Amino acid sequence: MRFPAIFGLFVFAVFMSNFSAMKTSFAVCLTLMLSLAAFAQDHSAQLIDEALKPSPIEANLEHLTDQIGGRVPGTSAMQKAIEWGMEAFKAAGADSVHTETFTIPNSWAEGNTQMSVSAPESFAVRVVSLAWAPALAPQHHVLVIDAGEGSAEDFAKAGNFAGDILLVHSNEMSTWDDLFAEYLRAPGIIDRAVKGKALAIAFQSTRPHDLLYRHTNAISGEIDRLPMVLVAREDAARMARLIASGQKLFADLSIPNSIGGPITTANVVAELKGIEKPEEFVVLGAHLDSWELGTGALDNGCNAALVVDALRAIKSAGLHPRRSIRFILFSGEEEGLLGSHAYVRAHRNELDKAAGVVILDEGTGKVTGFSLGGRKDVVSSVTTLVAPLQQFGATTLTTDAEWGSDHFDFMLEGVPTLLANQVEANYLINYHAMSDTYDKVDFRELKKHVAEAAVVTFGIADSPQGIGPRLNRAQIEQTMRETHLDDLMKTFGMWQDWEQGKLGRTR
Ligand SMILES: [Zn+2]
Repeated sequence: MRFPAIFGLFVFAVFMSNFSAMKTSFAVCLTLMLSLAAFAQDHSAQLIDEALKPSPIEANLEHLTDQIGGRVPGTSAMQKAIEWGMEAFKAAGADSVHTETFTIPNSWAEGNTQMSVSAPESFAVRVVSLAWAPALAPQHHVLVIDAGEGSAEDFAKAGNFAGDILLVHSNEMSTWDDLFAEYLRAPGIIDRAVKGKALAIAFQSTRPHDLLYRHTNAISGEIDRLPMVLVAREDAARMARLIASGQKLFADLSIPNSIGGPITTANVVAELKGIEKPEEFVVLGAHLDSWELGTGALDNGCNAALVVDALRAIKSAGLHPRRSIRFILFSGEEEGLLGSHAYVRAHRNELDKAAGVVILDEGTGKVTGFSLGGRKDVVSSVTTLVAPLQQFGATTLTTDAEWGSDHFDFMLEGVPTLLANQVEANYLINYHAMSDTYDKVDFRELKKHVAEAAVVTFGIADSPQGIGPRLNRAQIEQTMRETHLDDLMKTFGMWQDWEQGKLGRTR
């Protein structure tokens, strides 16, 4: 029972009563309305209560990270993770669970990547290949050129580097902006390196203490243009100092990546059916895949476990939303948001019925609120929705439009999206790194996030009017220009796909 129905009951009661009975009816109805208003408030209290109770979330995540481990599409670990998702959703009480498969153009796995300096001194260098970068047969005594930060001016200074290895410096990362900067500068560096016929690029790690991580510059599952390695920060600095001292530096390099043909992987989809408009739906999603140097705990196992636990919390609170809720664990996110892209393409015909999409992908740093994908028009409705999260300090809304997680394709289809904004906490240092393991997860915070995700997702699913309309192509493009998402998409070579209708809404 909800407000409009009660309001109708009130009108009906007044209509049917004679004047003397009317006062009584009014009082009865008012009391009923007030108690139902309190009941509506209680939904969030109930959900928060359920989410914060002891739950299987720790055990679920331990299974996913420690037992299954890093989850790259095309590997048996990814397949086990998909089965984990199916089982966990069933145990949480889903009305239905299924998988939806899609294809990634190539499989990729790192071999025993090795680099060592051969002159002026000999020493081993700690390296890993960049993901989805091509293999390189063993090379001996190759000149290493310092390409500075990799700007156009730095490349001009480097002169002729055909056949050489380019060493590219980095700043130590401490903020989200530093991380975005690392992704943003890469396409230009690779362009210049390819043009000058470099043999390979050696990027300096942005993390101290020898920490290596799996970075990729390929954003649609394609094999990149040039062999690339990530070099431990200290080793790269040592190499740079030797070059700066005026000596010629030579290195051996071998990158035996194994690359195969197309692979099939799958998104896992669980549903709680809506009782009033079951064909309309809200998505709560997080990606299930991860890199494999660590075990993908902060990115993004914790939030995959959160999606499962949000289903459990809603179900065990005994609540039934108006609209259906689809809980989705996406695959192929790390290779370029491929799972959510595939999902959006496969469900294009029903996106008019998508009431909203909620995504989490930033570890367990405190959620401060949500990014609304450039949608100023939904600020007021979402403000109401997040009001019960005041107690967690999770009510700040931003109207920026981000790339980089599974909300992206939905946003480009005009569906209202809420991407959780989180503080960095320990996410960045461990991002895609060997150190992204179960012990880094802050469960106290994660359980609050389960509560927040459950409240927001249920709130959209149960909202009489929804939080906002689906935008048409012109409106979407307007938000892209206002947020400068268009510039970002041009940098990454995605704008053409938007213009050609391969990405986003076409009308
Ligand atoms: Zn992620």
